Amino acid sequence: MSSPGINHYLDAAKRATAWHAENIKKMRSCRFDTIAVHGIYSMQEALDFNQGSVIEPIYMSTSQAYRDADEMEAALGYQIPTWCYSRIANPSVYYLEGVLALLEGYGSDVETSCVVTSSGMSAIQSAVDPFLIIDRNKPNQPMNFVATTQVYGGTFQQFAIRKHQEKNIEWRKVINANNLDEWESLIDENTRFVYGEMPSNPGLGFFDLEKVAEIAHKHNLPLIIDSTVATPALLRPIQHGADIVVQSVTKSLFTSGFGICGAVISRKNITTNIDNPQMKADFAMYIKLLPNRDNGPNISPMNAILALNDIRTIRSRMDILSRNTLKVAHFLETHKHIQEVEYLGLESHPLYQLASKYLILADSETDDCYGKPFNRYGHLMSFLVKGDADKTRDVFNAFTRIWRGTDLGRIKSIATIPAISTHSQQGEEGRKLAGIPSNLIRLCVGAEHPDDVIKDIDQALSVLDGKKVFITSPEFSAGGASSATLRKDS
Ligand SMILES: *Cc1c(COP(=O)(O)O)cnc(C)c1O
Repeated sequence: MSSPGINHYLDAAKRATAWHAENIKKMRSCRFDTIAVHGIYSMQEALDFNQGSVIEPIYMSTSQAYRDADEMEAALGYQIPTWCYSRIANPSVYYLEGVLALLEGYGSDVETSCVVTSSGMSAIQSAVDPFLIIDRNKPNQPMNFVATTQVYGGTFQQFAIRKHQEKNIEWRKVINANNLDEWESLIDENTRFVYGEMPSNPGLGFFDLEKVAEIAHKHNLPLIIDSTVATPALLRPIQHGADIVVQSVTKSLFTSGFGICGAVISRKNITTNIDNPQMKADFAMYIKLLPNRDNGPNISPMNAILALNDIRTIRSRMDILSRNTLKVAHFLETHKHIQEVEYLGLESHPLYQLASKYLILADSETDDCYGKPFNRYGHLMSFLVKGDADKTRDVFNAFTRIWRGTDLGRIKSIATIPAISTHSQQGEEGRKLAGIPSNLIRLCVGAEHPDDVIKDIDQALSVLDGKKVFITSPEFSAGGASSATLRKDS
């Protein structure tokens, strides 16, 4: 059978691309919740290509079949849109990328694109590595990057060990992110990017994003922001000048906790001193089609749709979770066994004013309940127990409703002791830099009634008055045997 020729496919691709662009443009004019619910999946696409499926289908297939050699060649040469091979592209993954790009770009007039990855850590690696490349004309030129020290423990390790120690790429540490001179003084001609996490996990570090973006851009550098804790429902850094946003989608976006997922979202035409026009024009698309094709940090289509399904309700969820957290924080503030409560929504927090400038519930000004821009501060908080590391462990061990785990963003309340979990690898010195004392408990308040969460914390704190703790025995789910409880005299 003779082929209709490559132009047949190129023309069809042009029509399809124009249709998709038009569809995305239409969605961009919708409100936040509408975008979150529908993303880029339309009724037309459902009826024409997906058996009318109301919910985005999960394409578990590894690869796509082609009509003939011409179509295959055009697809693999990226001349036409393609699903070719699921390490590179997959329709289900594309729906997730589409909705995240729109949500991070919401409220700004800049166009955004997104690539999702297997985890938040691979998103960070995907976002920073393209800037850490050797200039062939100056192979021995040193490289550095400027980043806050108040970052997620995994990020700290990636920067300190994988980059700085193993590759001799210097991490220039911003210790006090609220001192703008400090950011600027660390930048020189060998700097490749500027990076910050806000609010930071767990320390709730926060800085003046717009001012830091100005500093980065003045030096022709991109600003990369890890905005996991806020989610696009509360903060969209691109609107404030950031070039690239990384998300551990695993957390509040993917609240049901079914899987691990990361995302890189970028504005079109990022600022960078790397001479690579394609990368500059559409950073997320560039890393999707080239470096990530070759490195392979892709996500399963199953996980992509599970994440997508949670994202539909992100705005109302972040509203409820923030309200619950504020109530719990107020309770702890006056508790006799608490040394300090750290939550950006408390007026006593030194960064409350600054956080209030940036953390605003999307569309609150048109919401019947609020009718004006309304601050919501998310569901990450932490508190310092009055007492040493052992006392802190006793309180932690006494939780019955709040889960002990190194997780956050869940629909269920979860607590951890960062010093012995998320931030254990970086050692005492690293923890000091990141501001992680051993009596700090990180709590991520879920969607339970806040009074029940408060009740659980209150009874747990009463171990400091001499109450006994019960610990379930380590049966490791063997044979589904119900575990007995062991008594531990505290
Ligand atoms: C969890 C987390 C990450 C890492 O994401 P994973 O999905 O666990 O790989 C990065 N940044 C922040 C702020 C996080 O909380």
